[in-house]
Amino acid sequence: MPAMPAPVLAPRRKTRKIKVGDVYVGGDAPVSVQSMCTTKTHDVNATLQQIAELTAAGCDIVRVACPTQDDADALAPIARKSNIPVIADIHFQPKYVFAAIEAGCAAVRVNPGNIKRFDDQVKEIAQAAKDHGTSIRIGVNAGSLDKRLLDKYGKPTAEALVESAVWEASLFEEHDFHDFKISVKHNDPVVMVRAYEMLSERGDWPLHLGVTEAGPAFQGTIKSATAFGALLSQGIGDTIRVSLSAPPVEEVKVGIQILQALNLRPRKLEIVSCPSCGRAQVDVYELAEKVTAGLEGMEVPLRVAVMGCVVNGPGEAREADLGVASGNGKGQIFVKGEVIKTVPEKDIVETLIEEAMKIAETMEPVEGASPEVIAAS
Ligand code: SF4
Repeated sequence: MPAMPAPVLAPRRKTRKIKVGDVYVGGDAPVSVQSMCTTKTHDVNATLQQIAELTAAGCDIVRVACPTQDDADALAPIARKSNIPVIADIHFQPKYVFAAIEAGCAAVRVNPGNIKRFDDQVKEIAQAAKDHGTSIRIGVNAGSLDKRLLDKYGKPTAEALVESAVWEASLFEEHDFHDFKISVKHNDPVVMVRAYEMLSERGDWPLHLGVTEAGPAFQGTIKSATAFGALLSQGIGDTIRVSLSAPPVEEVKVGIQILQALNLRPRKLEIVSCPSCGRAQVDVYELAEKVTAGLEGMEVPLRVAVMGCVVNGPGEAREADLGVASGNGKGQIFVKGEVIKTVPEKDIVETLIEEAMKIAETMEPVEGASPEVIAAS
């Protein structure tokens, strides 16, 4: 019997489906995970190296900055050699929008708030993008909102972000260009969520979710998980980027975890570990960390329970594929609900990893974990 799809909190909202290189965004395409390189784009080797690391971590689409002509010159080899679609991120200089399109980037992110005379150039941008099969992200950002809207609203409110986005979308559509997605980022998750909710009621554009300048890893993870959770649980959002003041691979890991937590991506390895308490008879933190590290990169949907004592331990361990319930300097090891052995505390980690490997060999790797990739013709 085929496996039942995991339950989700709400069906995905129907959006227009666009292509970002060979990855679909919107429509019924799975929510994709993006990140952005921190390298200088003109350092082609360093940028490609970081893209390779991001690809290995599960990143679906990558963005690179393009502040100078040297960076623009580097876009063609980067776009050609990258294994995932490359988006050029353009601020201030409209000429780099055209350079990125010519360079073969999968998409271009434009910031209408700070590109000189942007509205006057939408026609040419739309035509160039159409000619090259390039998609566009209209990236409205609270930190660089159009001055006219700042004057009107006094600050970058949700309404102001949405008005900017809807206006720019209408300009592209007037020129019969529809292959674009939109973001309306704000550093306050509450404003950001409101903006996306409002925007999703105004059109069927695919939406790129992001809390801008979310902060260092801990704070940024919480802000992004909260905001993305609020939106994705309503079916809003087609692609996500977690912004962290941390290496971009961390952004990808967080993004994937958010999608897995919401069942928008099949879960792979899942460690169910208790928070520990005064009843714990083993160092749960250390145990959970060592087991997680030992099983990193596992591609099968294995659920491992690491429990500190016998209160909830046996119950959780029984529900998991594999588990340990600790007590009295020993660990009871469960496989599929049955105690298979009891080992001394010092051997718990090694035994769990060994048993996990054995179970993993009998499991199929998770399917459908990656976004919909367009087959090469
Ligand atoms: S499983 Fe035991 S140690 Fe862990 S939180 Fe529950 S009662 Fe405390």
